Amino acid sequence: MLELIGYSKTIAGMVYFMKILFKRKFKLTTLLISLICTSVVLITVFLLFASYQFEKKSLTDTYLSLNSSKSEKISSSVNFLSKSMRISLQETTKYLRDHPEMTDKEIQQYLELLRSNSRYFNSLSWTDETGLVRNVAPITVGLKGNYVSGVLKDSVNAKVPMLAPPFTGLTGRMMVFMSEPYFDHNGNYRGIIGGAIFLQEQNVLSEILGNDIIDETGSYYFVVGPNGKLLFHPDSKRIGEFVEGNPMIPKLLNGQSGMERIVNSKGVPMLAAYNFIPEIGWGVVQQTPVSYIDGLLKKHIQNLLLTILFPFFIILVVSISFAKKLAKPFIDLADVVNQFGSDTKIQPPVHQSHWNREADLLTKSLIIAVEAVEKNKNKLVEEAMTDSLTGLPNRRKLNEMMVSLANQKQLFSLVAMDIDHFKSINDTYGHQGGDEVLKYLAKTVRSLIREKDMFFRYGGEEFVLLMSDTNTSEAYMMAERIRTTIADTISPIGKSITVSLGISEFPIHTQSLGDLFIFADKALYQSKTNGRNQVTIWQGPYNSF
Ligand code: GH3
Ligand code: MG
Ligand code: MG
Repeated sequence: MLELIGYSKTIAGMVYFMKILFKRKFKLTTLLISLICTSVVLITVFLLFASYQFEKKSLTDTYLSLNSSKSEKISSSVNFLSKSMRISLQETTKYLRDHPEMTDKEIQQYLELLRSNSRYFNSLSWTDETGLVRNVAPITVGLKGNYVSGVLKDSVNAKVPMLAPPFTGLTGRMMVFMSEPYFDHNGNYRGIIGGAIFLQEQNVLSEILGNDIIDETGSYYFVVGPNGKLLFHPDSKRIGEFVEGNPMIPKLLNGQSGMERIVNSKGVPMLAAYNFIPEIGWGVVQQTPVSYIDGLLKKHIQNLLLTILFPFFIILVVSISFAKKLAKPFIDLADVVNQFGSDTKIQPPVHQSHWNREADLLTKSLIIAVEAVEKNKNKLVEEAMTDSLTGLPNRRKLNEMMVSLANQKQLFSLVAMDIDHFKSINDTYGHQGGDEVLKYLAKTVRSLIREKDMFFRYGGEEFVLLMSDTNTSEAYMMAERIRTTIADTISPIGKSITVSLGISEFPIHTQSLGDLFIFADKALYQSKTNGRNQVTIWQGPYNSF
């Protein structure tokens, strides 16, 4: 339960971390590079893992079958050895049967000779049918004249060829005992001729099996008897020991052969093959420590890593530069989109043909969108600076133009104009009649002025003429021309109207644009007070009133 709470806390922590992580806005390049790096690393890990698994299985199978064939080979050697030993005992009984005249001493000598020549047994003995040890070679074994008991006695009583499982004899030696019944030439049972292998001493098994028993892979073999006791083992101290905890032994004692991965009696994982020798009931086990396979696998993975490291690095570098190239048009487009909403002019994306279809389409669309937005913006600005009634630019545009000319240090004249008695036109002809007069005035003045001059509706029935690169006397001539034309022309109300005008000049009258307008307006006011329908040039403070 506590573990469950711990897990759910960890998962909640991870979810919280992911939430924080994904709240951040990642760049496309970062995302693509992360994706590529993750993919390349994951693929490499999976490849290494798959290769590791494959190699492990292949090595395991190889070593299991190697061990199997080796254990079969050893089994057949052991079997051959046991047959030879059996034949040797049979030959002895035959010889004794054929030479009934032999004395005890001669038999003793014969057994001594046989033992030292064949070297199969550590001792050879004749035990008669009563269980009395009649002869034993070498004599030093010291059993001569004693009566046997236990396994030896059972062998005497059996009257058939026997191979006793390992046991401890009267002299305290652990041994394997092979016996052959001895019948004399009259067919009377005369006991057994027995050969003993003293397991804990130098013996035929250790001589035949004992060379190079642990090879460079750490592999070794051992032999067990029918009661599970070790008959041969590289660690000679263990000979005679019961093998406990090794899962193969019961199968082996059951007469089975096979191969498998096991954990041996010392807790070491092994790849083992076992072979049962039915003729003698013994088993041979050949095994290799799994740690040797692990070492080989480690080396294999190291080699693989060294081999793939360089291509892996190249793939990574190429992929990252590819990702950057792929992301670049989108990043550029995002930068353009980011400009929307700002006051500055939007820089449209540079149109290069992209090899990525979406990037190409998006760039084209964005160029169209930017152009439309800019056009719209310009139109709005234009509209904001235009008077809707007369179509003339308004006072906002006038300010902008004056600032621009002043910045260029250009001289220019400002002509302020106001319709005389406009109120009464409105009163007599209605507001609409007044509007018609305003439109008519705009049109007429426009037709009179030069291309470089600009005419503005300042507000109400007040207008301003901006004449760049024009001094007051030139401006005066133009103002007079306007005044007289208006005064001599029939307006939409069916009669002519009059206008009053005032002129100031930049920068001669003032360098302040605000004052410049005030001066033109004051000159205009002068025209009004002087009786209207006239032009006045600003004369400085001395003509102020
Ligand atoms: P003055 O000779 O002294 O200039 O006399 P005025 O009657 O022209 O006096 P004023 O300049 O004060 O009058 C301006 C009038 O112009 C007041 C207003 O009703 C009228 N007006 C302002 N804007 C418009 C407009 O867009 N259309 C029309 N029809 N009349 C306007
Ligand atoms: Mg006015
Ligand atoms: Mg007026």
